[in-house]
Amino acid sequence: MRVIADTNRCLGAGQCVLADPERFDQSDDGIVVVLRAEATDPAEQEEVRETVSHCPSRALSLAD
Ligand code: SF4
Repeated sequence: MRVIADTNRCLGAGQCVLADPERFDQSDDGIVVVLRAEATDPAEQEEVRETVSHCPSRALSLAD
């Protein structure tokens, strides 16, 4: 599983960074930066699903 960020949709709300700072960061203008896209083990994948579901602008999505 991979997480994909649509930087055109990101509002810079920062929920993803608060939830998972090892995977997400924000650029100087607040837009999401994905530090680690791959999630391999089931616990990690569940964590990523949770974080993606909380993005207020639906800028985050998952791919196989
Ligand atoms: S939670 Fe969504 S809107 Fe907020 S910084 Fe992350 S990707 Fe952007």
